[in-house]
Amino acid sequence: MTFTDYDAAPESTSILNIREHYGLFINGSWTNGHGESFTTISPSTESVITTVSEADATDVDRAVKAARVAYDKVWSRMSGAERGKYLFRIARILQERAREFAVAETVDNGKPIRETRDVDVPLAAAWFFYYAGWSDKLEHAGLGANPTALGVAAQIIPWNFPLLMLAWKLAPALAAGNTVVLKPAETTPLTALMFAEVCQQAGLPDGVVNIVTGHGTITGSALVAHAGVNKIAFTGSTAVGRQIARAVAGSDTRLTLELGGKGANIVFDDAALDQAVEGVISGIFFNQGHVCCAGSRLLVQENIHDELMDRITRRLSTLRLGDPLDKNTDIGAINSKAQLDRITAIANTGEAEGAERWQLACDIPDKGFWFPPTIFTNVAASNTIARDEIFGPVLSVLTFRTPSEAIAKANNSAYGLSAGIWTEKASRMLAVADELRAGVIWANTFNKFDPASPFGGYKESGYGREGGRHGLAAYLTEGEGR
Ligand code: NDP
Repeated sequence: MTFTDYDAAPESTSILNIREHYGLFINGSWTNGHGESFTTISPSTESVITTVSEADATDVDRAVKAARVAYDKVWSRMSGAERGKYLFRIARILQERAREFAVAETVDNGKPIRETRDVDVPLAAAWFFYYAGWSDKLEHAGLGANPTALGVAAQIIPWNFPLLMLAWKLAPALAAGNTVVLKPAETTPLTALMFAEVCQQAGLPDGVVNIVTGHGTITGSALVAHAGVNKIAFTGSTAVGRQIARAVAGSDTRLTLELGGKGANIVFDDAALDQAVEGVISGIFFNQGHVCCAGSRLLVQENIHDELMDRITRRLSTLRLGDPLDKNTDIGAINSKAQLDRITAIANTGEAEGAERWQLACDIPDKGFWFPPTIFTNVAASNTIARDEIFGPVLSVLTFRTPSEAIAKANNSAYGLSAGIWTEKASRMLAVADELRAGVIWANTFNKFDPASPFGGYKESGYGREGGRHGLAAYLTEGEGR
């Protein structure tokens, strides 16, 4: 037995109380959609969890109208302090039901319970607590003397952090006084539907939050096309982000886009290497690399390349891939067959273009969607794996000799969402950070999130900021509102 051989320690699913079927959550109650119901499956077992309604354009219309009435009659008339009470209540209920949400997220998304328990759910609650505190202080947010809400916000979120992205979107919108129609991703609707129950539990007025499930091309595009929406907030692929930008061009619908990334994690030769190893690994293998701000490009100073790679592969060999409900699991399942196919195809391109592949030797479960942690060395800046977002557990390694070369290579990307700097020299850290075109830059750490800290991108990573005071600005106007 080695120290990596642990007994199984699965988290029980007995806490879950999943319905056999979920309708749409419109105007405070459940209703069936006019589209064809679909199933959501567990990506680690491929077993069906539940069936879910699909909203068509008429259902989306009902949801937007319910949000409008709730905005006009209730939410926009309520004092900020009163709105804040609801948000505090939601935050507390999320904390009370934390274990249940963590298990549900792990089952529906495939990510390890260690992450849903320690990251997704606590951060989702933290987001509501944070913005609850802003609800009655909007005039002190530096956004004008009397900022007002925009009206009805349409929010479309992806599958990589289903509950957390819901919190990132809903909390500032509601705190600012908007009402919402939210569409979760079709592969991960479960925690958004459970969140609808939280809204009921919190006594949130009907229509303030509406949740419509369905496919992007049906439900999502109907929501984007709806003339009654004042604001669209989207997180997802650059391709869909572009489509949405085109759809709202020329209208007065406000838009924020949080799209992909190809974050550079830069390790200088004076860095504390063991610390850097942990940061590089969590930077790309956290959440199976399904992270828009992942450190998917490792830029390592040439003279420490071999030593760093040796330490990284040795450390990676201790990671465990498998049942995401097992508390010892580090790497869970890929969220869907479609995403697994995408990752497989782009990784094959890496080899075809001349990079060298290292892959963790591990047992792959018979069922489910899995991709072992993979590293490509000998990568050229022009290679597809150095340029395109893979959104999976695949690290591309490039080298540099001088700080200016590191900066040039880091900025040589269509994206500009995140970056990491590993060095013991604070002066170098600040000088390099100053030159990087990335919305969020971590130094001697990676993938750290806080509700008070703004997050967003440059270039094809999108526009607008989420989190902090800046996150409120996306849902407020200095004018009269609608
Ligand atoms: P998408 O951009 O397709 O999905 C994100 C959300 O948008 C989902 O809710 C989706 O619905 C919805 N959507 C899809 N098409 C439309 C449309 N025409 N109008 C309105 N809404 C729409 O991402 P994918 O899931 O297809 O992932 C593809 C790639 O995108 C990944 O490999 C990754 O590179 C990137 N990505 C980046 C994310 C990020 O956080 N920046 C998050 C997710 C993906 P539904 O899923 O129900 O079809």
